[in-house]
This record gives sequence, structure tokens and C-alpha cells, in this order.
Amino acid sequence: MPGRRVTVAGLGVSGIPAAEVLAALGARVTVVDGGDSERHRAQAAPLEALGVAVRLGDGATLPEGTELIVTSPGWKPTSALFTAAEAAGVEVWGDVELAWRLRGAAAAPWLAVTGTNGKTTTVQMLASILDAAGLRTAAVGNIGTPVLDVVLSDEPYDVLAVELSSYQLHWAPSVRPHSAAVLNLAPDHLDWHGSMAAYAADKGRIYEGNTVACVYNLADPATEALVREADVEEGCRAIGFGLGSPRPSELGVVDGILVDRAFAPERHTSAQELAEISDVNPPAPHNIANALAAAALARAFGVQPAAVRDGLRAFRPDAHRIAHAGTVDDVTYIDDSKATNTHAAEASLAAYEHIVWIAGGLAKGATFDGLVTGAAKRLRGVVLIGADRALIGEALARHAPEVPVVDLDRTDTGAMAAAVRAARDLAHPGDTVLLAPACASMDMFANYNVRGDAFAEAVRDLRAPDTGQ
Ligand code: ADP
Repeated sequence: MPGRRVTVAGLGVSGIPAAEVLAALGARVTVVDGGDSERHRAQAAPLEALGVAVRLGDGATLPEGTELIVTSPGWKPTSALFTAAEAAGVEVWGDVELAWRLRGAAAAPWLAVTGTNGKTTTVQMLASILDAAGLRTAAVGNIGTPVLDVVLSDEPYDVLAVELSSYQLHWAPSVRPHSAAVLNLAPDHLDWHGSMAAYAADKGRIYEGNTVACVYNLADPATEALVREADVEEGCRAIGFGLGSPRPSELGVVDGILVDRAFAPERHTSAQELAEISDVNPPAPHNIANALAAAALARAFGVQPAAVRDGLRAFRPDAHRIAHAGTVDDVTYIDDSKATNTHAAEASLAAYEHIVWIAGGLAKGATFDGLVTGAAKRLRGVVLIGADRALIGEALARHAPEVPVVDLDRTDTGAMAAAVRAARDLAHPGDTVLLAPACASMDMFANYNVRGDAFAEAVRDLRAPDTGQ
């Protein structure tokens, strides 16, 4: 790196540590960013003190003499900067690629996870299992802590649980995990990748060069196809996970028990018990699938079954992911505000029998016919909120015309409380009121956390006298 002219694209969570590390290694670093706000200038100052040049307000022009670009994952491959880089024969690495090239597997083996939904949950479960096994580990990558921070730290790690987004994988061509899992594949971020095929191909990169196990979802043949296409090390095995009874080389469920027929010594004749379904929190079907994927990666690393059980028991999901917000008059209120796309909402709708569904927000170009058709028979009623609620309303009219719908035509701060009260009125004892919007929140809330908090607060208020707002 010394003396190398490196351009860092994007002054943000991954760009800043990348610029710091490159400068410390003696590279001549320029950070470019199309923005030029107060925040940008405040973030630029400490970098400039390290000798990094920061160019704000122009993210498109390739700085003179650039020999390498290190990009933030969010930058689209079609960005003008990369077109210019290609014309000039300049390589582009993401922050994860940079981490790998600088230290990579020498820091610790990587157990990597990607997928459309469930990445964060699965990586946290995996880290909890590795921890229970007494291994020094960290959950890193797209989950929050940049891989670069951990890979370059002095802390001795035995193994890393790494969440990789499709963007990061796109820009990480030489990463070679010990083992990896693709949890599922549904259309998402297609505007960024250009097509479903390109999105799938980027996700599939996670299997490249795996040494022990490529873990795929038996319920999602597209993930298995990616394993077949991958170029792996000799002896690396394909391991399936699913909710049924497992065959050899699979993890599955038998009589309420999560079992392993992939790494168990007697796998040709019997399965090894890992944990009970009730050890998984929450024990919804898609989350049991996440637990099996995490278990498969841990077992590929040699973790014993008891640590899988202990790690799953110790795991607590992050807020707003199928969180229990309260039970009032025998109706259970569940906050899955994190279900910001139809694939995630489909999973939580599948987890309950009689549902009053609160849905809507920003659809981001999604269609809702499949989601509504799949859930129709379990819907007691629906309360629609947000900018694109009519899209869901139309799908309901087409596929579930008998389901009562409350269309809430307001976006003020009291709207969520009104939605929760409307849902309460539709619910029967024993039902579940489920906030799984299938949409982004930004039309009404700062983010999905604020949306979930508003829901939880409204549920708390149900117990208080109705103010009739
Ligand atoms: P990610 O990190 O991939 O965004 P999270 O673990 O944060 O995933 O979960 C995001 C959303 O997806 C939540 O609403 C959650 O309920 C849902 N979800 C989690 N796991 C799965 C899965 N295996 N299949 C479908 N949806 C899932």
C-alpha cells in the first residue's frame, strides 16, 4: 500500500475506517462523496488531519492518478465513478475485499451468511453458539461492526460470524469463507443489481472457495443451484437445512427436535439431537430455519451439539423482529416492523393461525398478490396504513374479498394508535395482531424502529382508557 494512490468512494460507515486504515498503511488516499452537508464536513475534518484528501460534492469524477478504488457497498455498479475506473483499468474493491486482502483468513476463519432475509438474526444466533462453545468470536460485517475493524484488531479471534449483503459480495471477489450459508433468495434490491440473475450471482459468490461446507435451504432450490455453480475447495460438502425430517448431509426437525444428519458421526443410520424447537426464540418456522442454518455453520466448524443448544437458548432477537408487544384481552400483539419487504412479511404471516394484519407503507415497487393469496385463509382482518396502502388493498380485493379491511387514511403521529385500536376491534380472543408491514416505513416514520416503537406504545395504551383520538 505505501505510496499507492487509492480513492475511497463514500464518506460513511465503511468508507471512513477504510480511509483511516489505508492512510495508516501509507497509501495516498482521496475520499470522494457526492454529498456536501454539515455532516460530511464534520466527518471529513478528522480524516484530513490524517493527511487524507476529501473531495465533497463530486462522487462521479475519478481523481487523477487513481490506482485503486475502495468503495462503500451501497454505491451502484453503474455509478459514473466505476465507469471511469473501468475505462482507466482501475480495480474496484469493497470494504470487505479490502479487509480480506489485508489480512483475510489469517485473522480467523470466516463463517459467512447471506440471504434476502434473516441474515442478522442468523449471524447473531451463530455468534451466540460459537460463544457458548467457548470460542473467541464476533458478529461482523453488514450487521454493524465493519469486518475491517475486527480483522485488523490485535484481538485474537478463533472464528468470525460474518454477515455479507449482496452489495458487499458484489465487491468482494476474492473472499473465501471457511463455510457459508445462503438463507433464501427473493427479489430485492433489483434496481441496484440490475436483474434477479445478477442479484443471485452476487449472493452465490459467498460459496466461492469454501473449504468445509456450503449450507443451503432445502425449501429454496435457488440456493442449492448456487452451491452447484460454485467453485469450492476439494472435499467441501453441500449441506441442506429444512423443517422436515433430514436425510444424510442435512439438518432438519424430527418430533419437535432440531437434528443433525450432516456432521453426526453416525449420520448414515441416525441423527444427532441439537436442540428443541422451544429453545429457538421466537419459535416461528422461518426462525427455526435460521437456527438450523446457524447450527450447520457452527457444526461445520466442529462445535458440539450441546453448545448449539446453549447458544440458541442464550440468543435474544433484536427489537422489532417478531417481538411480543403485549397480550390484551387474550389477543397477542406482535411487532415485526422489520418486515420491510413481502418476503419477510410472508414468513411472519406464516407463523400465526388467526391474524389481524397491520400492513402498508412504502412499497418500493413491490407487488402483493402472492403475499395476500398465501395468507388469505389466516386473515381475520386487515388494517392498512401508509402511502402505498392502496396496492395492498387492491390485492386483498382481488384475492381475499371476504376479509374485512380498515383503510386508515391518515399519516399523522397518532395513526399507529388508531391502527392498533382498529385491529383490536377486528380481533377475536386467541388471535394475533401482527405488524408486518411488507413495506418500508419512511413515509410515516423515521425508520422501522420508530414504527415498531409506535406500535408497542399503542399496545400499552390499549390497557389505559381509550382517549378516542
Ligand atoms: P436481514 O439481516 O437479512 O435483514 P433480519 O434477521 O434482520 O434479516 O430479519 C429481517 C426480517 O425478515 C424480519 O422481519 C424477520 O422476521 C424476517 N425474517 C427473518 N428470517 C427470515 C427467513 N428465514 N425468511 C423470511 N423472513 C425472515
